[in-house]
Amino acid sequence: MNPEWNNLLTSELSSRSWPKEFVQIVVKLSDGIPLSREDGKFLFETSRLDVVGELANIVKRSKFGKQIFFNVNVHINQTNICTLACRFCAFRRGRRAEDAYAMSPQQYVDDISLYADEVDEIHSVGGLHPDWDISYFEKMFRSAKSKFPEIHIKALTAVEIKHISKLSNISILETLTKLSKAGLGSLPGGGAEILDDDVRAIICRGKESSQEYLDIHGIAHLIGIPTNCTMLFGTIETIDQRLTHLLKLREQQTLSNGFQCFVPYPYLADNSRLHEAQLASANEILRVIAVSRLMLDNIPHIKAYRMNIGDHMAELALSFGADDLDGTVQKETIMHLAGSSSPLDHDKESLTKIISNIGAVAVQRNTVYTKFSTYRRISLPIIQ
Ligand code: SF4
Repeated sequence: MNPEWNNLLTSELSSRSWPKEFVQIVVKLSDGIPLSREDGKFLFETSRLDVVGELANIVKRSKFGKQIFFNVNVHINQTNICTLACRFCAFRRGRRAEDAYAMSPQQYVDDISLYADEVDEIHSVGGLHPDWDISYFEKMFRSAKSKFPEIHIKALTAVEIKHISKLSNISILETLTKLSKAGLGSLPGGGAEILDDDVRAIICRGKESSQEYLDIHGIAHLIGIPTNCTMLFGTIETIDQRLTHLLKLREQQTLSNGFQCFVPYPYLADNSRLHEAQLASANEILRVIAVSRLMLDNIPHIKAYRMNIGDHMAELALSFGADDLDGTVQKETIMHLAGSSSPLDHDKESLTKIISNIGAVAVQRNTVYTKFSTYRRISLPIIQ
């Protein structure tokens, strides 16, 4: 952390008086002590969302000042054919469905070609195709990298890695090593849902267990593949289960230190089969983002995933602890089939307006947060 901003944390926290029920948490934040499950429960339950948001924003500013990060990417989902049928999923299809599709490696490369001039990241996740083993993905990533060596491939969820490993009869370590050699740069972190096996048994039976999700990410970190981590909330989970999720991620980060960014997103209900879901309200979405920032002291970035929460809510989230905005995206299927209406036609100019609207500085980043450039929006002359 920039020492100047670290001082800012202490001085901002101590320069005003906080409601007395928050004092213990303020002291911990100021002293760099991780918050406990009880602290998290309080933050989830207090009526003072304004204070929770303010604390989260101060912590964010202490790490990144006025900067908000974004990237320029496109989402390409290689197949919607899936052997599982998670109840929250509006995307998967059986292989005989009329609109089932599976891209060949050449089609994948052709699709990238449509965006290659503008993007520096491909985000690819898909269904668990019954026939695609490691050789298929090696070919897919190799073909893409040989044509577009500068573009980063952020692809595959933990359950896809597990599925490929099983189909190929090789270990997770070998699977990840081979994929990395073929061009996989990082894992997007999707599929964590809620890291509680009772919840998983109801919403995504057959998926990897909570521990398997963590282990797969831990192995990726071990061999130098950075990953993000996610949380799908607003299905059937309790506050305690959300906290279990956050605490497990924090613990895994202590062990393997490869999570770059946490991406919380609420369940969208269109075309899926989880009728008992308690959909998250706007208040809850902002609270989850703020509490994540405060609980996950060892995960650097918290993303406002605009594909899911929409641009208006994403803009608000940037004042509730989020420091990262999902990119230009341009093509997205999974969230849009579930009900998202987030715009897909943003160029840098319109995307960064979301950031400048809150008075922050838009900083373009690469996928792994090692290259940054401040983005200055074009100011048009005022015509009198
Ligand atoms: S969430 Fe993923 S694993 Fe589950 S049904 Fe959808 S595509 Fe398949």
